[in-house]
Amino acid sequence: MTGRVAVNTDLNFVQGLMLHGAADLKKCYQCSTCTVACPLTPNDQPFPRKEMLWAQWGMKDKLFRDMDLWLCHNCNDCTDQCPRGAKPGEVMSALRNQTIEHYSYPQAISKAAKSARGNVVLFLIPMVLIALAIAMKNIESGFAFLTAKPIVYANMLPVNFIDILFLPPVLFAVFNSYKAISNFIGGLKEQYPPTDRGENLLPAVKGTIQDVLSHIEFKKCGTNKSRNISHRLMMYGFIGLFITTNAVFVLHWLNEFGFDVQVTPLPFFHPVKILGNVSAFAAFAGIYLIVRDRVKNSGTSILSLFDWMFIGNMFFTVVTGILCQVFRVGDHANLAFLTYYIHLVMVFYLLAYAPQTKFGHILYRPAAMIYSRYSGRNIDIFRNL
Ligand code: SF4
Ligand code: SF4
Repeated sequence: MTGRVAVNTDLNFVQGLMLHGAADLKKCYQCSTCTVACPLTPNDQPFPRKEMLWAQWGMKDKLFRDMDLWLCHNCNDCTDQCPRGAKPGEVMSALRNQTIEHYSYPQAISKAAKSARGNVVLFLIPMVLIALAIAMKNIESGFAFLTAKPIVYANMLPVNFIDILFLPPVLFAVFNSYKAISNFIGGLKEQYPPTDRGENLLPAVKGTIQDVLSHIEFKKCGTNKSRNISHRLMMYGFIGLFITTNAVFVLHWLNEFGFDVQVTPLPFFHPVKILGNVSAFAAFAGIYLIVRDRVKNSGTSILSLFDWMFIGNMFFTVVTGILCQVFRVGDHANLAFLTYYIHLVMVFYLLAYAPQTKFGHILYRPAAMIYSRYSGRNIDIFRNL
């Protein structure tokens, strides 16, 4: 007698997936060419063919606990080789986005980030909050900061105001990130119980940090080799900008507590300024190369609005940051303050909604990579090196 297998399927999930980046999913006829082409898949339960099958069947519970979605680095070698044009690389990307939405809290933010109308609302929140803060600070002086010389951004919105505005959403994002990643790892544990082939936690974390910094997985890409450079530039650029922002924050508060330190605007040759400028140009170059490659490959590689919002948000964060400096030095007050306002809105979107938007991949991917080492899932991958 043949045994029966119960399969939990969700057709709404399939429809949502096809609407948001996996339009050609149904073309797949399970030939497995993609799995053979993938440079990153392990021998045991390889990807992405099985994900194509689970996605076609709407087996979302399996997919939300699927570590392999995050071991894929979006090189698109599989999409290039697929004889049916089912775009498995895009399907993997769309599945990652669905996973972010599934674990995010509140889910409404993730859903909003997928639609044009929702994004208008997400942007309106910081636009109104920041505009109100500027009005509260400057209404009495008749917005004198616009004509005061030299241009000082803190005259428009002092750092204390920015801290009050940004700290609650950032703390909320940190809390949500913790909650989302805890639930995600719980799901991974169910689907991939740890084996005795796994590493201890500390070496697994250390190995993952080395892998991320060296971009070892990106280097194995066949089709899209330049991603190694572009993604690395963007990642290092944003790490540099993160350090710069925190250094400025620390300098400000040291100054407030009476220490004799330089505060903004920092001179051009101050180490923090140099780090900020070098990082901004690295991030800009990385984003430019990513967009250029995406546009060049638009026949095979299609991005959803969720993806474009992430790239666009990072692009405008960096560009407005650079322009703030250009307009300040060039003494164009109106342009400078308007650009600074847009920059603050962009930074708010990036930070406050990080766990619910595509930016969340910087949490999920390392978590999956650490768990891959911890559970022993990565052993086959290293054998393939
Ligand atoms: S996605 Fe394409 S290559 Fe992969 S199994 Fe389906 S048809 Fe074959
Ligand atoms: S996009 Fe690249 S890493 Fe991801 S499944 Fe396809 S071939 Fe593998």
